[in-house]
Amino acid sequence: MDMYIPTRMIIGSGCVREHYTSFASFGKKALIVTGKQSAVKSGALQDVKDALFACGISWIVFNEVENNPTIETCYRGGALAKESGADFIVAIGGGSPMDAAKAIAAYATNDIEPMDIYKPLDNPPLKFCSVPLTAGTGSEVTPYSVLTVHEIENKLTFTHPNNFSQIAFLDPDYLKTMSRETLLDTVADALSHAVESLLSRRSTMASAVYAKAALEHLSACIPDVISGTPNYEQLLFASALAGMAISHTGTIVVHSMGYMLTYHKGVPHGRANALLLPGYIALCEKQVPERLKTVLDAFGAENAEKFRDTIKQLTAENCILTAEEAKDFAAKAILAKNVVQNPWPLTEAEEKSVFDGLVQ
Ligand code: NAP
Ligand code: FE
Repeated sequence: MDMYIPTRMIIGSGCVREHYTSFASFGKKALIVTGKQSAVKSGALQDVKDALFACGISWIVFNEVENNPTIETCYRGGALAKESGADFIVAIGGGSPMDAAKAIAAYATNDIEPMDIYKPLDNPPLKFCSVPLTAGTGSEVTPYSVLTVHEIENKLTFTHPNNFSQIAFLDPDYLKTMSRETLLDTVADALSHAVESLLSRRSTMASAVYAKAALEHLSACIPDVISGTPNYEQLLFASALAGMAISHTGTIVVHSMGYMLTYHKGVPHGRANALLLPGYIALCEKQVPERLKTVLDAFGAENAEKFRDTIKQLTAENCILTAEEAKDFAAKAILAKNVVQNPWPLTEAEEKSVFDGLVQ
């Protein structure tokens, strides 16, 4: 068994301002990696700039990260890091900017072609800190950087032992500007991480501690998320716990199937998981009822049907597939590497049955 979460997490309202001196040890020039608007709207960008200024650190902003970032965008960010002489990175955003920052950190220190990021790297990536603006991906505590690769019409994860944030600043106030749709999508993502981690064949006593705690906190938070009065601090904590769980196990097939809906149908990442989880849980009920019970018990769900009903309430919008799409997506998703970590030998027909649940 191997337990490794090297990220310091500072949690609470005003934590960037309060702990501004913690930036001082990272370097002399920061590259701030963000999306278009969220870092400004949430107030996080201003807080980070103030903290850097107070430490005598200069900065440059790369705010071109799109949802589901492409390797091309990250490569451009890496070139900017090199040109500007940035010696560390601050990621501010949802999973997209946080994941992009990890790839940018690798391109910044290695003279490689874009796809070479998936080969062993000569030099360690730049160090980075993260300021999450959503409570879903857990990217602030995972070693994963999920990137869109048009060449393969899919997403591909870049993993490196140095992909862990040095510090994650979890300030619940920054989440208040999220739309309701993004809130629901990202909570569903965290829930899917915890469920998939606990069901994975790679689950251990260690990873299960994080996954079960995440399920317990999510169960406590979800009613208020649905009623529109979310406890953002507890959600951030739950999402980070789920992130720590997948740091040990990875995700399994809900995620690899979800990438089909995101790449081909433009469905936001967390929503793709929310749409597929009920069908997947129905399979688990049939194939691995005892394992599923550990998930239901940790969440405090009476039975699988009640759990599915809760997940459906997190689905902000439906996605309709044609029968042809369901067949194609299953054929492609079954090739994903993580299929072998499913708790039973999953077949293409079973994956198709999950996609068929979205056919009308
Ligand atoms: P996201 O793609 O980072 O953001 C979605 C949208 O929400 C963007 O338009 C963003 O605006 C906006 N937004 C985010 N936070 C906001 C805030 N506080 N206020 C206002 N607007 C806000 O969403 P995400 O679900 O967090 O990340 C999804 C990505 O993470 C996917 O690429 C997925 O594959 C990846 N992921 C990674 C891991 C991992 O372990 N690394 C795990 C699961 C998923 P801006 O464009 O202005 O930022
Ligand atoms: Fe995810």
